[in-house]
Amino acid sequence: SERNLFQIEKLNAMGGLVRTLAHEVRNPLNNINLSVDQMEEMFTDEGLAIYLEIVKRNSGYINSLITELLHSLRHTEMNIQKWPVHDIFYLSLAKVKDRLDIKKIQVKVLLPQEDLHVQIDLEKMNSAFLNLLTNAIEAIEHNEGLITLSSEKSKDGVLVKIQDNGMGISTESLGRLFEPYYTTKRNGMGLGMVATLNILQAHNATIEVKSEVGKGTAFSILFPWPVEAAEN
Ligand code: ADP
Ligand code: MG
Repeated sequence: SERNLFQIEKLNAMGGLVRTLAHEVRNPLNNINLSVDQMEEMFTDEGLAIYLEIVKRNSGYINSLITELLHSLRHTEMNIQKWPVHDIFYLSLAKVKDRLDIKKIQVKVLLPQEDLHVQIDLEKMNSAFLNLLTNAIEAIEHNEGLITLSSEKSKDGVLVKIQDNGMGISTESLGRLFEPYYTTKRNGMGLGMVATLNILQAHNATIEVKSEVGKGTAFSILFPWPVEAAEN
């Protein structure tokens, strides 16, 4: 649609700036890491070690954010192959394991008896799920965090859901969710949802959201039939 074309164009226009910024951030980040390594060698104080660990973990986090961001800008060709849905789940979950542990968020993966497969570019789909998972984690601000990933066969295709019991999304935000640079977070970039939408659209998949403030959010992604027809 016209609206999506506009989004993609705007995103492309920003690509250069984002790339430059990413590289500029990596240099000082490198210096921080080198200094922390040096400090670890010089000081054996256990109290200090805890803080050095925190600095390292967080600079590692910034670094992986930059990597993801640069990945999301890459317009490489699609490499479509058949993958079981649970591969997407487990690959993206592995990437957020630390954040899930830190927030003590429980994860449930609900899969049907038979393996459901989808025709996807695994790397791209992974980054889409990583965006959704990251948002789910960031939406949880209590100690009973739960994220549920599920897949099922529906009459229209393979339906994949990602659900959280986080803060939910206001009606106003719902309408702007896929706008580039729309964020409600202090340090948000507002690029995760639009990148996710672009990736899903490239797969002919659709995304729907249901959310209730204070209760949580559920994203439903439909990979329409014939997702498996190509194999027959
Ligand atoms: P960012 O995460 O950098 O803010 P995104 O494009 O990933 O950018 O998300 C845009 C906005 O959508 C977020 O700032 C947030 O307000 C809202 N959002 C997306 N997913 C969720 C979710 N699972 N729970 C609550 N809010 C969400
Ligand atoms: Mg995000």
